[in-house]
Amino acid sequence: MSRNILLLPGDGIGPEIVAEAERVLARVNDRFSLGLNFDQALVGGAALDACDTPLPEDTLAKARQADAILLGAVGGPKWDALPMAKRPEKGLLGLRSSLELFANLRPAILYPQLASASSLKPDVVSGLDILIVRELTGGIYFGQPRGVRHLENGERQGYNTYAYTESEIRRIGRVAFEAARQRNGKLCSVDKANVLEVTVLWREVMEDLTREYPDVALSHMYVDNAAMQLVRAPKQFDVIVTGNMFGDILSDEAAMLTGSIGMLPSASLNSQKQGMYEPCHGSAPDIAGQGIANPLATILSAAMMLRYSLGEEEAANAIEAAVSQVLDQGLRTADILSEGTRKVSTREMGEAVLAAL
Ligand code: NAD
Repeated sequence: MSRNILLLPGDGIGPEIVAEAERVLARVNDRFSLGLNFDQALVGGAALDACDTPLPEDTLAKARQADAILLGAVGGPKWDALPMAKRPEKGLLGLRSSLELFANLRPAILYPQLASASSLKPDVVSGLDILIVRELTGGIYFGQPRGVRHLENGERQGYNTYAYTESEIRRIGRVAFEAARQRNGKLCSVDKANVLEVTVLWREVMEDLTREYPDVALSHMYVDNAAMQLVRAPKQFDVIVTGNMFGDILSDEAAMLTGSIGMLPSASLNSQKQGMYEPCHGSAPDIAGQGIANPLATILSAAMMLRYSLGEEEAANAIEAAVSQVLDQGLRTADILSEGTRKVSTREMGEAVLAAL
């Protein structure tokens, strides 16, 4: 069976980290006879420079045909002054909405080898293993109407719309309940139901889903409290489900609990399990081109891709074990460096994972 993998390196450190993940995928492809075919396309700023659009037709066509997509990151100061429709991020948002990638899975796992890299006390974070399920194609990032308008008094007003339909809430809820069922049967739904009507409905639908999943213990938390609890006692959480904007913020917060955003993979899936896999971090323009970025989040995203879109659990486990082994060897990129460990470049980290495989 052959499967098509589309690589979208993007901008900044994207090409450097995707190159390492591609080498790792090529290695497991040989070792486990996975039948993967690789193709590559432009997205984000790189696509703007070449084709004057952040999401060229050719990229979208290849993405639709791919079984899975591995993305680096998009964006950077070079494109920050462009009008909103031409921002690199529009490429990403366009892919998410065109492929209906409504479910974003972001694990926040603290590798025991990196416990000291967290800014929190080791006893607060050690053993941390949270999964944040974020709705990705609805909510305030996509709601209409939106824009900046002139008011009668001459002042300008910026506005966005925060809306969710019942079916949008229900389908992301199901993904989260399923995930909780496969883990420890605990799900916390995060909303702002004391202020926002849209999240009153969110809470109602989540409650309703407990009839389908009586084995999962559902709780609710307001987003401001969730932000506090994540740094106070993060291990109380197992699976968290929330809307697009709250999930964006909380998953970055959870990322920092683990010490480095350079370690965290993510998956965005549609109802056919086609998925786009990418590290949680951005394009890190401050370190782009220096060969020092941490490629592990992207390599771990490739492992998630094998697991969730291709059903290749054994190959996924092999990559994750190789990453753990490399950390055991004391190899660290600059972002996760600590006393007694050895600093390596992006390429050296990739080489070490290959060697461990
Ligand atoms: P960022 O995640 O790019 O960087 C934040 C900090 O973390 C920086 O100091 C960076 O050097 C560091 N960092 C990030 N990834 C790293 C890695 N793999 N190894 C080592 N250090 C790493 O976030 P930002 O600075 O807010 O955004 C930079 C650009 O990326 C912006 O244009 C933003 O729009 C874009 N962005 C893209 C995505 C995406 O493509 N999914 C996500 C977030 C931000």
